[in-house]
Amino acid sequence: MSTRPAAEPQQYRYPDDALCAQTDPELFHPEKGGTTAYAKRICLACEVRIECLEHALANGELHGVWGGMGPDQRKAIRRARDRRRTA
Ligand code: SF4
Repeated sequence: MSTRPAAEPQQYRYPDDALCAQTDPELFHPEKGGTTAYAKRICLACEVRIECLEHALANGELHGVWGGMGPDQRKAIRRARDRRRTA
């Protein structure tokens, strides 16, 4: 039986630990008609994805990929939350 104490869980913070900071920012804001697939795949591995998405929703970010979601996906979340609030 090991006597070593259990390791503390890693604490990640947004935006300091944003995975996109280590990549090409153009991937997250592609030219019109460009793909967001690469950015979204990076987001899936990002430890601060939820915080990033909530930041984008709270600040009305209209462009680019945030939290693994594009503008239309974020708009759908905002609408769903608005509907829930007014129901
Ligand atoms: S979720 Fe995506 S856009 Fe947000 S910080 Fe992480 S890598 Fe960047």
